[in-house]
Amino acid sequence: MFRMASSIKFYTNGTWEDAPGRTLHPITNPATGDVIAVVPYATAEDVDRTARAAHAAFLKWREVPVVDRVQVFYRYKDLLEKHAAEISRILSSENGKTVDDAAGSVRRAIQMVEVACGMPSLMMGQSLENVSKGIDCQSIRQPLGVCAGITPFNFPAMVPMWMFPFAIACGNTFILKPSEKVPLTPTRTAELLHDAGLPAGVYNLLHGAREAVDALLAHPLVRAISFVGSSPVAKYVYQTAAAHGKRVQALGGAKNHLVVMPDANIGKSVEAILGSAFGAAGERCLAGSVLVAVGDVQPLLDALLAKVRALRIGDGAAPGTEMGPLVTAEHRARVLGYIEKGIAEGAQMLVDGREHMNGHHGGYFLGPTVFGGVEPGMTIAREEIFGPVLSVIRVKDLDAAIALVNGSAFGNTTSIFTSDGHSAREYASRVEVGMVGVNVGVAAPMAFFPFSGWKNSFYGDLHAHGRDAVAFYTEQKVIMSRWF
Ligand code: NAD
Repeated sequence: MFRMASSIKFYTNGTWEDAPGRTLHPITNPATGDVIAVVPYATAEDVDRTARAAHAAFLKWREVPVVDRVQVFYRYKDLLEKHAAEISRILSSENGKTVDDAAGSVRRAIQMVEVACGMPSLMMGQSLENVSKGIDCQSIRQPLGVCAGITPFNFPAMVPMWMFPFAIACGNTFILKPSEKVPLTPTRTAELLHDAGLPAGVYNLLHGAREAVDALLAHPLVRAISFVGSSPVAKYVYQTAAAHGKRVQALGGAKNHLVVMPDANIGKSVEAILGSAFGAAGERCLAGSVLVAVGDVQPLLDALLAKVRALRIGDGAAPGTEMGPLVTAEHRARVLGYIEKGIAEGAQMLVDGREHMNGHHGGYFLGPTVFGGVEPGMTIAREEIFGPVLSVIRVKDLDAAIALVNGSAFGNTTSIFTSDGHSAREYASRVEVGMVGVNVGVAAPMAFFPFSGWKNSFYGDLHAHGRDAVAFYTEQKVIMSRWF
């Protein structure tokens, strides 16, 4: 069941607040174009009020023993499990991805909560007795204070949970500013966190766009910023927050290469490539965007194009749909611009997704698109498109594939498909990319490992989730003790 258009609220200091007088923006169902909600945009004053409440809450929350803090997350996990199907439907209705795909991301979100429940072990420091005669030394981890998260439209349940379960279990308080395109999923997941019994002010939810982000980046009570989104904004957030003395992790955009060696298992590789390039309509930071075919490309292309043409496009909520619409009309127009650029720069259209634009009652549909004869210098080979567009580039050998991948300005993820261990090992070792798949199309690290790209795909030091998250959301202190 969806909330009424007027009911999107801020969640600050443990209460749901109307935001009278704020600018309201419509949220549409991408499959139909129907307005399903309106969202208020927070002002700098809203951020200030929320940061003060979060700071007051921090002074109490940090005193709660970690074993008690994680009890909230055990209850939260249980509530998320119970409501997973409902959250997945809400997510699909505002983002457009299929309900099954949404359910997979909700499962991943729950895994973040599971790992954060291990905080009593994860936060442990180290100790050594008698570092000098009669002197013992120990290191401990302590929370920072108010932390903020700024997140993108494509994973509105999972990406915020890369952040706040870890931050809060470490003893911090948190302000989430999710993408203004998808406020419904964060609203429902915040309601469940409230129901799990988190004290007022420990978690806060503000909607909005640039004004809210800028206010968070500059606010003196906000100690750390976690950002996930496009590279230009990631760089801006990193530089601005760092200039205000904050700790920052800013995960950016991507241009991911899928390398297929001549010895790859064609059938299995094609399935993985299809899911990687066209799952979630290519709106994933781990989506394969460039298919790098080593040697003879024809058998692979024949098998791939047949599958691409057979993909079932439709409303993500309808059973059997394999690919839903893009998130907004504006985003579809941007992706269409790249398709037109590909044609203008001389790439060969192998499958034209524009044929799927009509006949879907007003949604933002665009079918899977495949370009052949793509050269590394073309715009579609270099820039992030973030839509269902796959470019095929041919290279002569593994060295040429590695050189191509390492020539990219991005370094988020890449995959190699091969049955040769030596090629796989060489590739994984030599590519300048943060997350590598070997015969895996979407190499998304699990919650207990760190997640991040390299180069323009990441600005910062400590990565998202896993042990890096614990280090990011805590200060280390070293204590030397001598007792007389
Ligand atoms: P986006 O950069 O437009 O927005 C991300 C967040 O930044 C939103 O909360 C938005 O309100 C805010 N924002 C946007 N413009 C801003 C500005 N000028 N100043 C301050 N704040 C601003 O990204 P998006 O379109 O929501 O998401 C898609 C992007 O996210 C893609 O580039 C994708 O690769 C990236 N992404 C990366 C990862 C990763 O792990 N590296 C994961 C998911 C998505």
